[in-house]
Amino acid sequence: MALLEVNDLSVAFVQYVRGFRQQQAQVLHGLSLSVDSGEILAVVGASGSGKSLLAHAILGILPVNARARGSLRFRGEELTPERQQALRGSEIALVPQSVQYLDPLMRVGRQVRDAVRTGDPAEAQRSVFERYRLKPGTAALFPFQLSGGMARRVLVSTATVSGARLVVADEPTPGLDPAVVAEALGSFRELADEGCGVMLISHDIESALAVADRVAVLYAGSVVEIARAEEFAGAGEALRHPYTRALWRALPQNGFVPLRGSQPPANALPAGCAFAPRCAYADASCTAERPGERALRGGMVRCIHAS
Ligand code: SF4
Repeated sequence: MALLEVNDLSVAFVQYVRGFRQQQAQVLHGLSLSVDSGEILAVVGASGSGKSLLAHAILGILPVNARARGSLRFRGEELTPERQQALRGSEIALVPQSVQYLDPLMRVGRQVRDAVRTGDPAEAQRSVFERYRLKPGTAALFPFQLSGGMARRVLVSTATVSGARLVVADEPTPGLDPAVVAEALGSFRELADEGCGVMLISHDIESALAVADRVAVLYAGSVVEIARAEEFAGAGEALRHPYTRALWRALPQNGFVPLRGSQPPANALPAGCAFAPRCAYADASCTAERPGERALRGGMVRCIHAS
């Protein structure tokens, strides 16, 4: 049994247009994936592919005008809104994209102590700061007094002391220098090695691959491939979807091969496969209907021609 199962998740936003007419803009389209205890699942894709919405749907913090369908299960049980609220910050922790998530008016030591669910909060905070090489004096500082790297370590500390079984890290390393990125990602690897499940959401596929076990690739609100991290190798021969291969080949060390065109807005998808306008392998059958998910070589793909 997976720690977290997301099955056929769709999210739409209700919007009001002229004359108070209501319309729905669908931004996640039948998305399915899972996270096991002890693994890091990286969720990668370009900006606008729906990565953060997925995180917010799991935590139950979607905006009020969002409508979600599909099933979320945590430790085998349905993740209802009530259960999401009860587990948020305890069994399911978020490491957010912005360090502004920290309360600007509260000393960071207190913020970490408040996240402790069992045991002595002061001891837990001291020990987690030591683990993440935050000097003892850091506890008395306010968020504005921290460097970007220190603030990241405080956020990871908060997730760690909460004793969460599932950590959802939503773009946890933006704007950090490579050494700090490696350190932050290393801390997620440690959490996974201790038995935690980690969903690492990132646009930076190269960094994510350094610590991930599996990778789910999002494109225009759908997961188009789930692959093992070791399949990202060579010229990408082991990868299943043309978009995943294009992402891989666009990296500097893999030839910097550009991908023509741009991702369509999730609420204005072309007919059939959303990737068809950019795909070198597209034919008439690709625009007939949206490719379904199918298991292939131990992973998953949404491409009718993948073999
Ligand atoms: S279904 Fe067709 S257009 Fe879509 S990725 Fe596969 S080959 Fe390309």
